[in-house]
Amino acid sequence: MTTTLRISDTSAPEHRPSILDLTRSELAESMEEMRQPKFRTMQIWQAIYGESAKSFDEMTTLPKLLRANLANAYDVSVLEPMISLHSKEGSVDKVLFKLNDGELIETVLMRYSGRGDSRARRTVCISTQAGCALGCTFCATGQQGFRRNLSAGEIVSQVTHMNEVLAETTGGEERVTNVVFMGMGEPMANYDNTMKAVNILNDDEGIRLGARNMTISTVGLVPQILRLAEEPYQVNLAISLHAPNDRLRSRIMPINARWNIATLIQACRQYIEKTNRRVSFEYVLIAGENDKPVHAEELIGLLDGLLCHVNIIPVNATEARYDRPDQGRIGKFRDLLRRGGIPVTVRIEKGTDINAGCGQLRARAISATD
Ligand code: SAH
Ligand code: SF4
Repeated sequence: MTTTLRISDTSAPEHRPSILDLTRSELAESMEEMRQPKFRTMQIWQAIYGESAKSFDEMTTLPKLLRANLANAYDVSVLEPMISLHSKEGSVDKVLFKLNDGELIETVLMRYSGRGDSRARRTVCISTQAGCALGCTFCATGQQGFRRNLSAGEIVSQVTHMNEVLAETTGGEERVTNVVFMGMGEPMANYDNTMKAVNILNDDEGIRLGARNMTISTVGLVPQILRLAEEPYQVNLAISLHAPNDRLRSRIMPINARWNIATLIQACRQYIEKTNRRVSFEYVLIAGENDKPVHAEELIGLLDGLLCHVNIIPVNATEARYDRPDQGRIGKFRDLLRRGGIPVTVRIEKGTDINAGCGQLRARAISATD
């Protein structure tokens, strides 16, 4: 007989809002309501984002009574690392976190050495939901279903945790330089918390990550793409396209029934017109599915004249048993796009020995308890 882990039953009887869910201006409002002097906001902000305080007790610059009042009102810690893995070649860390209600999410840190004129990067791939409702057939997260949205604090804390990992392992030399919203879940289906997380990550008195160093990846939720075009942040947008025609895309991405390729590309056109920013298209390459020369030709036609870049991602193996094309076929697909005038890169694979693909570690952790 098999048993299943009932994730949401495992912890946290009490649920206070987290102070990590507040932007700096919301924290200032909260301090005003608590009749605190203005400088308290910066003291608390510094304690959280400068000194990595994990409880109000550690915020020794605050009076004791205020610490007690804050502890009654707010949680400070929202993530607990359950499993941490380090890839063999040393460039990838992956962490499975437990949230305060027992849900599980994954975060990946990738270290890229600088080559030529590109600078070394420390990129964190973060989750925005526990699970995902959108059911893409090749995606381990999509196959696990939806649990819940993450709060802004739960999104931001994945980055601060990786900043702490980097600080510990490099004697404070290294920090996270880039954030990609490409972990578990669909960021645009958790729009408000995602944008709040961008605000907090971007804050110039806190984590100080440039918006241009953040990339939000979406399955293609059209209204939210248009909304993002109106935001003040210069974040990058990546679209998970994965197929050059509706028949193929609908087969692997159920969302295509709601917003088809023509509607999606039209939204991208509007986004580019409004922002003048280049859009990235993600294309998971699956053997025998979307990797034929005719698909490359269709893709060239589709993206013709768009300010864009294509990232080819050879598919990671999941339960669905899709196969990755061989190197020759991947190279041919890339060359066809290049010859068709489309800027293209094949994404460098990292951490396959530690299940670095989206949702794969959580799936393994749960099935290990069966
Ligand atoms: N929901 C968003 C962001 C999370 S998924 C989105 O779909 O864009 C991040 C990226 O990982 C997407 O481009 C997604 O299609 C890709 N991905 C999912 N499963 C994969 C797999 N098995 N192999 C390679 N890439 C995968
Ligand atoms: Fe959700 Fe993105 Fe996975 Fe599709 S690829 S199921 S949208 S996380």
